[in-house]
Amino acid sequence: MKNHFLVFYLIISNLLFSQEYGVKINLNNVVNDQVFIEITVPPLSGNKLEYHMPVVTPGTYSTANYGNLIEKIYAYDKDNKRVSFRRKNKNTWVTNEPEKIFKICYWIDDSYDKKITYIPRVSGSSFKKESQFFMLNFPCIFGYFKGYKNIPYKINVEKPASRHLSTSLKTISQDDKNDIFYASNYIEAADNPVMYHNGDTISHQFGKTRFHLAAYSDNGAVDIKELDYVVRRVDSVIYKTIGDQDVSDYFYLFYFDKDEGFLANMNYAALEHRKSSYYYMNIWDNDASYFLDGFTGLACHEFLHRITPLGFCSNKISDYDYQSTKMSKHLWLYEGFTEYLSVMTMFKTGLYNEKELRSDFSDKLSYAEKFGDYSIAKMSQKCLNINNLVQRLVRLNRYSDVYSRGAILGLLLDIEINKQSSGQKNLLGIIMEMKKKYDCLTCPFEEEKFIDEFTELSGLNLKPFFDKYILGSEPLPLEKSLSSIGWKYISKKKKYPCFVTGMKIERDSIYGNYVLMDFDKNTLGLEKGDIITAINGSPIQDWKYFSVLGFPWIADYISNEITLNVKRGNEKLQLKGKATLTIMTDKTYVTDNYIKNIYEGQLRKQVLGR
Ligand SMILES: [Zn+2]
Repeated sequence: MKNHFLVFYLIISNLLFSQEYGVKINLNNVVNDQVFIEITVPPLSGNKLEYHMPVVTPGTYSTANYGNLIEKIYAYDKDNKRVSFRRKNKNTWVTNEPEKIFKICYWIDDSYDKKITYIPRVSGSSFKKESQFFMLNFPCIFGYFKGYKNIPYKINVEKPASRHLSTSLKTISQDDKNDIFYASNYIEAADNPVMYHNGDTISHQFGKTRFHLAAYSDNGAVDIKELDYVVRRVDSVIYKTIGDQDVSDYFYLFYFDKDEGFLANMNYAALEHRKSSYYYMNIWDNDASYFLDGFTGLACHEFLHRITPLGFCSNKISDYDYQSTKMSKHLWLYEGFTEYLSVMTMFKTGLYNEKELRSDFSDKLSYAEKFGDYSIAKMSQKCLNINNLVQRLVRLNRYSDVYSRGAILGLLLDIEINKQSSGQKNLLGIIMEMKKKYDCLTCPFEEEKFIDEFTELSGLNLKPFFDKYILGSEPLPLEKSLSSIGWKYISKKKKYPCFVTGMKIERDSIYGNYVLMDFDKNTLGLEKGDIITAINGSPIQDWKYFSVLGFPWIADYISNEITLNVKRGNEKLQLKGKATLTIMTDKTYVTDNYIKNIYEGQLRKQVLGR
C-alpha cells in the first residue's frame, strides 16, 4: 500500500513538475519599463534553498548585481498559495520550503534605464512600452535555484506584434503570438541573447556558416549594408586564417541607441557569445562613423573569442559561477591574445598594411606605458574583488590595459616562439592545438597547469617568458624583441612640471579621507600617511583632483605653485610648494627599422608573413 501510494505520488508529481524551468515573459504588458515574469520550477528539495540572480556575467568583468532589477517577488505552491521566500541579499532569496514551490513570479525592470548604471549595456535588457526594440539578455531576467543551474529552460515569450526575431537561441515553436525557446541549461540561456526589433536584417553564407546581421537604430543613422560589408570582410579573413567554423548559424546583433543622458559620451561596447555577438553604440549625435571605423577590429576580436575563452578556457570559469567575483588569472590569454590575434589576422589578410599595424601597436604601447610593469596574471585574478574606491578606479583602468599590454605580450611571445622554433611554430598554431585538446564547457584546462601545458605542447623553452612577463612583473624586452623583426621601439621622454612623483593615494573606507600612501619625490613636504583635504582652498571631491599633483597642466592650476590643506595626526597643516621639472614619458611608438642580417629577415618573415 505504501509503495503503491509512493508510485502514485511520483506519477502525479511528475505530471505537475517537470525537470525543467518554464519561464514566461510577456512583452505585451510593459508597465513602467517592467515586465511580469512567471517561472515554474523543477521539483526542488532540501530544508533550505536559495534562488540566485547573477552577481556577474561572463566577459563583462564587472560586478553588476542583476538581482537589483527584481521587484515584488513571490513563490507559490501548486494551489497558488504563497510559500516562504525572503530576500537574503541583493541577488539571493531564500525559502525554507523548497519542495512546496511550484512557481515564482515577479516584476522586473529593464536595465536600459537612466537610473541603472551598474549593468553594462552589452549584458543589459531593454523593454519599453510600444518600443520598436526589445533586448533580452536573460541574466537580467531570470536566475536559478542553487544546485539547479544545469537543467533545461523552456522560455515562452509573448511577443510584440510585427517585430523581427533575431537570436541564436534554439526556437522550438513559433506562432503569431508566442515564441518558445529552449536552452539545455542556464549557461546556454545566458549565452544567447534575444532581440525583437523593427530594424533591418540581412544574411550571407561563408563556408559552413550562415551569418545573420540584425541592426536596430533609434534614429536610422546606420545602414545595415555598411555593416554587412565589414562583416563579410571579417568573415572571409577569419575563414582564411582559422578555417571553417563549427557553427551553422552565427548572429551579429546591433543596437544604435540615441541616449542623450549620462552615456552621451560613451562610445561603444561589444560582448561575445558562442553563436552571436552583441554590439551597442550610443549615436546620440547621429554620427556612426566612429563606430564603423573601429568596427572591423571589434567584430574580428569578438568572433575570435570563439577560440578562447568560449572555445577553451580554465576550469575556474568553465561551469561559470555567476555568484563569484573570483576571476581566472588567464585574462591575458582570453582578452590580450585574442586582441593580438585579431590585429594580426587583419594584417595578414590585407585589411591592415604594416604601417597601420605598427600604428596600432604604437597606440597599445603608449597606453600600456601609463601603467608601468606589473604581473598581468595577478591583475587578472583580482580584477573584480577590490573594495577600496581608489584602488578600484585604478584597477578599472588597469583592466583595460589587458587589451594593450596583453596584445603586446602576444606579439613578444609569437616572436619568441618563431625564434626558438626557426619559424616552424607560431602562437596561433599552438593556441589552435590547445583548442583541439580542450573544450570550455566539457573539458576545460586546469587553471594552475595551463602555462606548463602550453609550454609542453610547444616543445620549446617558454617557461622563462611566462615566469618573467606574465606571472612576473619584469620590464618587457621591447627594444630587443621588436628590433629582431625590423621594428624600432622608441620611447620619448620629456620634462614636465610636477609636484609629486610615484604618488599612491588611497581612500579610507570608513571616513572617506584621501590618504597619501606612497611617493617617490615631492616638493611640498608631504609625508606618507598625510590626509589631503583641499587643493588651493577647494575641498577634494574625488580622486581625479589628485591628477593636478602629478600633471599641473591638466586642471586649471596653470600656475606652478600650489597649496594643500593636510591633516597629519592631530595637526592641521598648510603646505606650499612649486612644481619641479620631472622626466616623464611623452610618446611611445614603433617605426620601421633596417634589418641587420639574414636571420632577422627570416624571423620578420615568419612573424609578419612578409
Ligand atoms: Zn574581448
